[in-house]
Amino acid sequence: MNIGIVGLPSSGKSTLFNALTRGAAETGRFGSGRAEINQGRVLVPDERLGWLAGVYSPKKRTPASVDFLDAPGVRPGDSARGAASLISDLRTVEALLQVVRVFPDDSVPSPSGSVDAVRDAQDLDAEFLLADLAVAENRLKRLESDRSKGLSTPELAEEEAVLGRVRDGLEEGTAIRCLGLDRREMLRLKGFAFLSAKPQILVGNVGEEEPGGGSADAGLRQLASETGREYLAVSAQIESEIARMDEEEAGAFLEDLGIAEASRGRVIRTCFDLLSLISFFTFGEDECKAWTLPKGSSAVEAAGKIHSDISRGFIRAEIEPFEEFKAAGTWAAAKDAGKFRLEGRDYVMRDGDCVVFRFNV
Ligand code: GDP
Repeated sequence: MNIGIVGLPSSGKSTLFNALTRGAAETGRFGSGRAEINQGRVLVPDERLGWLAGVYSPKKRTPASVDFLDAPGVRPGDSARGAASLISDLRTVEALLQVVRVFPDDSVPSPSGSVDAVRDAQDLDAEFLLADLAVAENRLKRLESDRSKGLSTPELAEEEAVLGRVRDGLEEGTAIRCLGLDRREMLRLKGFAFLSAKPQILVGNVGEEEPGGGSADAGLRQLASETGREYLAVSAQIESEIARMDEEEAGAFLEDLGIAEASRGRVIRTCFDLLSLISFFTFGEDECKAWTLPKGSSAVEAAGKIHSDISRGFIRAEIEPFEEFKAAGTWAAAKDAGKFRLEGRDYVMRDGDCVVFRFNV
């Protein structure tokens, strides 16, 4: 899963990126479009994997991971200056995390001269909408010209109809994810990698005095719900302090502030929910591993994640929900108690399923 962190300059985007990815398994930079982008791979904390590793003492323990990308700050008017690079920088991400400044701090100048979270969020939204509109209009022009030359097919006609709706919506200021397009229509649009079609989390970067958000970010919270987005209040400043502490120090610090947990876990969980992802586990003395899977995937699709041979030769999946496995203490005990189930290829995987695949190639 990869998530692009976006925001206006001085929103606290890089502070949040650095806090989320401190101690990341891998970091790097890759160049595309107009600037290099920082990338960090964060391992997803999961107590369930920790328990499995405690039972098996495996040679290798492999958590799920999330890649965060710190995209260059977007300034109002950027889409007019170069929509193509704005798009290509963010084309590959599955979801966007838009950081919006809420914190009042006179020592940090705001590019627009004042702190107004709703205005800033709408300014960035407008850039994305304009960038998408440019792409849609370009393609529509091409389709219209082909049609006038008699080069139309039913697929192209369908594409033109969907893009027409997209253009009209964008012109009215509606993000593509809010147009109520069905699955088939969204699939038609996939190749364009429209920014406003991507699932999005709005993150209010709130002041240290109000780490849970409150009156200052109420407008932003409302904007998120009106525009089909998840909302999280985060203090990038506090997160970056926590990221520098060891676990014990961080625990005490959070308790002092009256915060239940650091934001990294919340951000990652929200991304999982937003992208409709679940985790399943494989386990043994060689490796205990958390796998990521779209909700609704079948057992044979889960098998294919591990290896195409396992899906091709799929016979059955032995499944034990994590909580029952844990209650039984060991896989053998769970089996003895007749707790585990044998499922066929069409079984719909659930979050937390622990699995042994039986296959034959
Ligand atoms: P970016 O341009 O969006 O990447 O913003 P940065 O992360 O570089 O932050 C810009 C400035 O704002 C830096 O001086 C940060 O220290 C400061 N900053 C970021 N987040 C917070 C915050 O939550 N509270 C306060 N007071 N300052 C912050």
